[in-house]
Amino acid sequence: MATAATAHKRVDIRRNDTVKVMTGRDMGKQGRVLRVLPDEGRVLVEHVMMVKKHVRANQQKNVKGGIAEQERPIPLSNVALVCATCGPVRIGHEVRGDRKVRVCKKCKTTLDK
Ligand SMILES: [Zn+2]
Repeated sequence: MATAATAHKRVDIRRNDTVKVMTGRDMGKQGRVLRVLPDEGRVLVEHVMMVKKHVRANQQKNVKGGIAEQERPIPLSNVALVCATCGPVRIGHEVRGDRKVRVCKKCKTTLDK
């Protein structure tokens, strides 16, 4: 359960970001963020932390039976945002015009699209 201290925790990773897994079973993998779960402090990354799931055939939903693979969310602290030029980096913040953007701490390039 989210406590008051974590409820407003800033999450600097967003959907469609490219992140690199820095620790854990899938260390070194890089993928696109499918979903951010701020309350859980977790993130769902494409092709990372795949688990096999047995699926029963369901003709009404047009689902074939068998084994499906699915991503499981991993802790946000295990991933780093990837800068196109520097690789995995720490995120800084800067005001550009009237927008506050995320920037790469190394090359200062904005990481927002
Ligand atoms: Zn950079």
